[in-house]
Amino acid sequence: MDYEYEAVIGLETHVQLKTKSKMWCGCVNQFGALPNTNVCPVCLGMPGVLPVANEEALRLTVLTGFLLNCSVPNYAKFDRKNYFYPDAPKNYQITQYDKPSTMNGYVEFEMEGRIEKVRITRAHLEEDVGKNFHFERNSGVDFNRAGVPLLEIVSEPDIRNSDMAYTYLNALKDILIYGGVSDCDMEKGMVRCDVNVSVRPKGQKELGAKIEIKNMNSFSGVRRALDYEIPRQIEELKRGNKLRQETRRWDDEGGITESMRSKEMAHDYRYFPEPDLMPFVPDEKWLAEVKLRIVELPLARKQRFTRKYQLPSSDAQTFIDDVPLGDYFERVTAESNNPKAVANWVINNLRAKLTESGTTLREVKFNTKAIPELISLVDSGKISTRIAQDVFADMFATGDSPGQIVEKKGLVQLSDTGSIEKFCDEAIAANPRSVEDYKAGKVAALNFLKGQVMKLSKGKANPNIVGEILERKLKS
Ligand code: ADP
Ligand code: MG
Ligand code: ZN
Repeated sequence: MDYEYEAVIGLETHVQLKTKSKMWCGCVNQFGALPNTNVCPVCLGMPGVLPVANEEALRLTVLTGFLLNCSVPNYAKFDRKNYFYPDAPKNYQITQYDKPSTMNGYVEFEMEGRIEKVRITRAHLEEDVGKNFHFERNSGVDFNRAGVPLLEIVSEPDIRNSDMAYTYLNALKDILIYGGVSDCDMEKGMVRCDVNVSVRPKGQKELGAKIEIKNMNSFSGVRRALDYEIPRQIEELKRGNKLRQETRRWDDEGGITESMRSKEMAHDYRYFPEPDLMPFVPDEKWLAEVKLRIVELPLARKQRFTRKYQLPSSDAQTFIDDVPLGDYFERVTAESNNPKAVANWVINNLRAKLTESGTTLREVKFNTKAIPELISLVDSGKISTRIAQDVFADMFATGDSPGQIVEKKGLVQLSDTGSIEKFCDEAIAANPRSVEDYKAGKVAALNFLKGQVMKLSKGKANPNIVGEILERKLKS
């Protein structure tokens, strides 16, 4: 039988929390220090030491739970996951096994114009391990990362293809950055991901054999690995082969996955409750303080910007990606009744000027009333949109108000028909060819003449009036 197959994907995402110190000791949580300089007996796993939980890490864990719509049980505990590996000097990792700090949530995100939802099984707190380095003749371990607080966010198998996995990961990352939970700097390895993927005939309820691709450190890598792995699994089934649960490794250069170990070779971690740590039992007051740190999420912000200000999706997205710019837009819009025009000035002009001059929003010299004033000068016909560009440049350079600049430079748009007529007559006299063209039916010739009049008036003539007068004169 020839089935149609579908992929089922669940992701386990590890994220380093943004704390000053490590999870169980006072060592700094910092990337890029000289190897083994941010270490102490606790994070080196010396005998006889005791862990002390970092309260900020507990707060960030619970905050993440709230941001991911999870429930936060009033009883959680820590467990030991036992295994031997050179980068884990204690020979166990402290994690949360059967009583995690948060569970049963979901993430919503936009994809191809729809809202998708991926359920979150749990987000639990654990600790990062050191990092192995392999040199030509020997190996070394850097323990600076050992004991850095790490959140593991486990999704339900709700993801159906590589693009959805990619979009989910980016949405998750944005949420964590918005919430101040993690910097999610991929370059610094702050986010790593285990990818679980199986395939099954479409319509079948049961899940296929779970294949886990370990330790992916880029989202594009996850997408590429899935684009390789899903067809591979389907191909196997079509050939009549059975897939077995296994762990695979992604070879980024080769662009393939390869088997690491089968289920029979899986670790037995011999979990047991961590005897050196109290259960985590947050009270109402503590939870209420964490709740104060809940922020508006990217998707909600985008929906608010499109609804409240009637902005197109692309403008709203700009203000989601650049939060300070979006906040600035909101402050300016509060002084205006034309949000779309404000968005245009902020995105097209202000942002360009900031980039060009290498300055930040804080250094902007004009106040929040300036852009609305500029917009009303244009709307009321006092200055042309062309002139408005010059006024903006001046405003940005000097901080003067648009009104002052228009006065100072005599930029008021010419609307008195007498002087515009004069410019029109001049333009007509100087361009007999265009006049002929126009009379012969070439409409574009009018625009050329209009441009000439604008030039003669140094950009000050009201273009609508110019158009009217030219047409009248050419038709007579
Ligand atoms: P384990 O106990 O081996 O870690 P879990 O059941 O906790 O396995 O699942 C780990 C991750 O794998 C979760 O993100 C889950 O959604 C996903 N997952 C579980 N079974 C499958 C499957 N058959 N196909 C794809 N993903 C799966
Ligand atoms: Mg797992
Ligand atoms: Zn330490």
